[in-house]
Amino acid sequence: MKEQILRELAVEYESQRAANRDEEQRRLAEASALDPMIGALTERRLELFHQRVRAAFDSPERAMEISKELGRELAAISSDLRKRLKAVGLPEDRLQPVYRCAVCRDQGYIGEPIREMCDCLKQRVYQRLCRDDNLGVQTDENFTAWNELVFDPSPTELLPQGQRAEMLKHRAVCESYADSFPQTEKPNLLFLGPSGVGKTYMLNCVAQRVLERGYTPWKLTASQMMAILRDAYFDRGDPERARLLRESPLLMIDDLGTEPMQENLTVTQLFSLLNERGARRQHTIVSTNLTPKELALRYTERVFSRLFDKRLTRVLQFRGADARMLRA
Ligand SMILES: [Zn+2]
Repeated sequence: MKEQILRELAVEYESQRAANRDEEQRRLAEASALDPMIGALTERRLELFHQRVRAAFDSPERAMEISKELGRELAAISSDLRKRLKAVGLPEDRLQPVYRCAVCRDQGYIGEPIREMCDCLKQRVYQRLCRDDNLGVQTDENFTAWNELVFDPSPTELLPQGQRAEMLKHRAVCESYADSFPQTEKPNLLFLGPSGVGKTYMLNCVAQRVLERGYTPWKLTASQMMAILRDAYFDRGDPERARLLRESPLLMIDDLGTEPMQENLTVTQLFSLLNERGARRQHTIVSTNLTPKELALRYTERVFSRLFDKRLTRVLQFRGADARMLRA
């Protein structure tokens, strides 16, 4: 599956590079139409380069000297070009190479001699792998549609400032998390609270915003996640999916605590996943209906301390009445 995706992406990158070259040509033609010297200087630069390389090849003992001279000549032409571009009202860097990714310049790979996949390519592979799952994101649930009016504004003993005010605060935290991703204050969020108070909706809001910003979150229920981990453990199913759970830039686990418990397996797998992601400071959001006490009992102290690790996690308590009735 991954080989197939890589082949398709190699074609995509190739055509991206061709499109970049076309765009460079288009920009050059545009600038040259405004000032013909721009075209002439660009040609001169290329000529010079070939001449000097040939000269260095013919007399290797002068190669160093030639290369220095070439550097000076090219710098002079570039400076002239910049002035001319500015004079015709174009940005000075208008004729710089065009590419989508500044790291690999749309090669998809970086590093010499060991070629490594660039993040931009990893991201695309990941997107393809997740496409079938639709990333689990409910797209009509987003920050724009989020409506505080479904939450009760009246003060209660539990919430003296009212549920609505508290939810507005949570929204602000989550929206800023999504807007600053991946440079969030802490990598993880933990949503605690009974069902019906808007935790899953909030997960979707964050996922949707992160998606819009070009990142690829993966949202799934704890049951779905444990099924993937279990399959990987018993060496069946698709190992790529288990790898993605570990490598996804933003993993969102909904409804932790509702998945079937399989003795030690659930706890061990969950611990190793959280531990690994935490060590790499990857972003994870967990939502659960369980109380901290129930979490500790069900998953042991080890998992509990990962979930509530203050250095990595911001905990949001969703409290108050079931808002689903009001929403309907
Ligand atoms: Zn790249």
